[in-house]
Amino acid sequence: MLHTSPYPDLDIPNLDLPTFVFSHAKRFTVYGKDPKLVALVDGAQSLSFAELEAQTEAFASGLYNKVGLRRGDILAAILPNTILYQVVAMGTHMIGGVVTTANPAYTPRELAHQLQVTQAKVVVTVRASIPVVKEALRIGQLSIPDDRILTIDGEGGSVRQVLSQQPFPRVFLTTKHEADTTPSFIVFSSGTSGVPKGVVLSHKNMVANMVQFLSTDRCDKKLMEATRAKFQRRWLQVLPMFHIYGILISNVSILSGGVNVIMEKFDFSGFCALIQEHKIDTVFLAPPVILALTKSPEVKKYDLSSLLYLNSGAAPLSKELQGEAELKLGAFVTQGFGMSESSPLVARSVSGSSVLGSVGPLVPNTVAKFADDNGIQVGVNQIGELCVKGPQIMIGYYNNEQATAKTVSSDGFLHTGDIGYIDSNGNIFITDRKKELIKYKGFQIPPAELEGLLTDHSAVVDAAVIPVYDEKRASEVPKAFIVVRPDAIKPNVGQEVREWMDARVVDYKKLRGGIELIEAIPKSATGKILRRVLKDMETMRSKQA
Ligand code: AMP
Repeated sequence: MLHTSPYPDLDIPNLDLPTFVFSHAKRFTVYGKDPKLVALVDGAQSLSFAELEAQTEAFASGLYNKVGLRRGDILAAILPNTILYQVVAMGTHMIGGVVTTANPAYTPRELAHQLQVTQAKVVVTVRASIPVVKEALRIGQLSIPDDRILTIDGEGGSVRQVLSQQPFPRVFLTTKHEADTTPSFIVFSSGTSGVPKGVVLSHKNMVANMVQFLSTDRCDKKLMEATRAKFQRRWLQVLPMFHIYGILISNVSILSGGVNVIMEKFDFSGFCALIQEHKIDTVFLAPPVILALTKSPEVKKYDLSSLLYLNSGAAPLSKELQGEAELKLGAFVTQGFGMSESSPLVARSVSGSSVLGSVGPLVPNTVAKFADDNGIQVGVNQIGELCVKGPQIMIGYYNNEQATAKTVSSDGFLHTGDIGYIDSNGNIFITDRKKELIKYKGFQIPPAELEGLLTDHSAVVDAAVIPVYDEKRASEVPKAFIVVRPDAIKPNVGQEVREWMDARVVDYKKLRGGIELIEAIPKSATGKILRRVLKDMETMRSKQA
């Protein structure tokens, strides 16, 4: 049984992302009447809508005329949240470049993988990250000349120095074919299995998802009522702008004519202080921050009464916590479901809905089915793997046809690797995950990557990594099972391996669930790790405890 969106289908414009963002905002929002209105705030800096557009064009010109980036070339943005993020991304798009976004906290090893896969020609980063970039290039045996490594905060090759007023050949996409096939972003995701892969998203994917988002915003009657009196909604950008969820939200805040306050680095008190200072009404988050807003005594120190709307995505949020958060905060708390491979939004609940715990109905132009382990479709209220199809589904994994074919079937359905069901009113519930992926506070941890690294340690002969749930953190954390070489067994070997791992991975991938020694990793006849066996063992233990 195929499930369709309850919303009417929408026309998706065949435009490139910057043309869509700037022209839509001018036509339909307050920026059309007054482009000098502030669109972005970052500490003491701000950018009006007109300045954002002008700087984006100036960066596009500089990239073309001074740096030499050309249509189809890839630029790696290795940046924390910054007021210049969209300038860099959309400036690259304006000359037909492709942006790959990387976590600035990556270790050189992690960054080397992304730079190797994408063969980026230009890097934009912060001064503090230059040594990591250089080391990543060395590990990856890559070479990017110094004048193609730009910084947003430094002298020398800084982005501001590159800005130029010289003419440049702006790339406008106008046909369906161009919009469908021209890549805009390559974000990284491990998908249903294996190590991180480059998810290629077209301009059409991104524009479609923005249109899908905006229309579900407009159909949310209670949200519209609550924000009607607002001249500009005030958003807080705490989601990382290198992640697809953060990319979408930073774009739709502009498309909604709002002010987006950028938070560079998350800490909970700073987050509450920004809400109070900027009278924030709209925030998109992952579940652990909803938990902190609901339970932390810290909240009492701040006036958070401006909050009207919070959305949780990127990981599961229980209906109990969703309901409690609404009561405590006196704000709407909705949920959205998405994936990097779907640009990201697939489903989104509406404000004040009585179906807590649901990620809501499908967004427009999207169809879904739920399939059992044999790929047979199951009916309403029956559990299966969620498979979705729509204009937001990626072009494919970069230079990896095999992984693409495994994830997107020939009839266009993306196999999400997530388990759930749909009720008779079209509300989707996500109940489990079939794929290997572990999510710590919304960040991806690919078990295959950690397993590969663990077996690089001289004492470890085999390894498996699974998620265990940590109530206090309201998040999954990764736990490793390792088989240790007989002559390397000693009391503190687990601790030693853990410290060794900690030095090689970004903070959120650390083995917070611990390391356990095991005699053998359970495997199938074909040698596939049976993570489910280990997960069931952990579940049994926690029930017994
Ligand atoms: P990413 O590609 O990093 O956005 O991760 C996508 C994955 O995050 C999905 O396949 C789900 O496993 C998980 N996810 C995203 N949103 C939700 C949600 N609202 N509830 C449960 N899991 C979610």
